[in-house]
Amino acid sequence: MSYSLAVIVPAYNETEVLERFHARLAGVLDGMAVDATVIYVDDGSKDTTWEIIDRLAQADTRITGLRLSRNFGKEAAMTAGLDAADADAVVLIDADLQDPPELIPDLVARLREGNDVVYATRADRAGETRLKKFTSAAFYRVMDLVSDNPMPRDTGDFRVLSRRAVAALGELRERQRFMKGLFAWIGYRQVSLRYQRDPRFAGDTKWNYWRLTNLAVEGITSFSVAPLRIATWLGLSTALGAFLYGLWVILKVMLWGDPVRGYPTLLVAILFLGGAQLLALGVIGEYVGRTYAESKRRPLYYVEDRRGRAGPSPGHDPQGPRQA
Ligand code: UDP
Ligand code: MG
Repeated sequence: MSYSLAVIVPAYNETEVLERFHARLAGVLDGMAVDATVIYVDDGSKDTTWEIIDRLAQADTRITGLRLSRNFGKEAAMTAGLDAADADAVVLIDADLQDPPELIPDLVARLREGNDVVYATRADRAGETRLKKFTSAAFYRVMDLVSDNPMPRDTGDFRVLSRRAVAALGELRERQRFMKGLFAWIGYRQVSLRYQRDPRFAGDTKWNYWRLTNLAVEGITSFSVAPLRIATWLGLSTALGAFLYGLWVILKVMLWGDPVRGYPTLLVAILFLGGAQLLALGVIGEYVGRTYAESKRRPLYYVEDRRGRAGPSPGHDPQGPRQA
């Protein structure tokens, strides 16, 4: 039995690059002695991405196309691909040519040395603004501080997974799919491979700072309860401070007597406490909201259409509700 490889490509409005991407990927796969499948997951694109996948699938029998019923987000699209993949090694790669397909043979070679996850680490971040570099560095630092299992830096989703790593990931059905955290969480033998990341070939990044900030909040809250603890400590120290200050005020009255004063201190104290309470409530609300979202146990995505060979293998039916 020959070694099988599945390449998962989430694509959202990638009309401009998809054909070019496939040409480069196909060239790489042609040169590898593996039984290859390419799974394109159209994440509810609003342009002609699906038509292109359809056309590519007619020309290249290695292609499987999945079209999700709407835009579920990259993390869900990757999950759809992972559920449909049935191979010894599974590669996750972006469609925008920022992850060079030429690296796949090296990634797979490292995997076959007995590793379970080989992730590609960017040696530098070409084409990114200084602000983006700074914010992402800050994000990783915060994650390291609050999370128990460290997350590799400067690592995108470009990686190759062994069969058992894919199976492990498949069991994590939480809605807060912070994939980078999930990859790290499953454990097994993980190694990195350094490479130069290219600037986006064409089209625009789908990330803006609003989405990135939300992703960061998601990353932190789904892997750590540290913000809750911060609220606890903040509350404790404020209460202690207020208590000591109260003692001081009483002492002052008893020793020297004191006319009515302290209106400003009163206001400051009230405002500070009010703010701290609202913040703590917000933090709690964040976790309650997450619990609510998870408790509904909705499917992570729906498949609307399929193309090409293998549908999902038995036991990987994304349409059916999953029993825990
Ligand atoms: N993507 C997706 N669904 C989305 C957003 C993005 O499937 O809602 C895909 C996109 O087509 C690309 C990959 O995820 O293949 C990475 O997207 P992008 O290049 O916009 O992100 P960045 O490289 O800036 O992290
Ligand atoms: Mg990109």
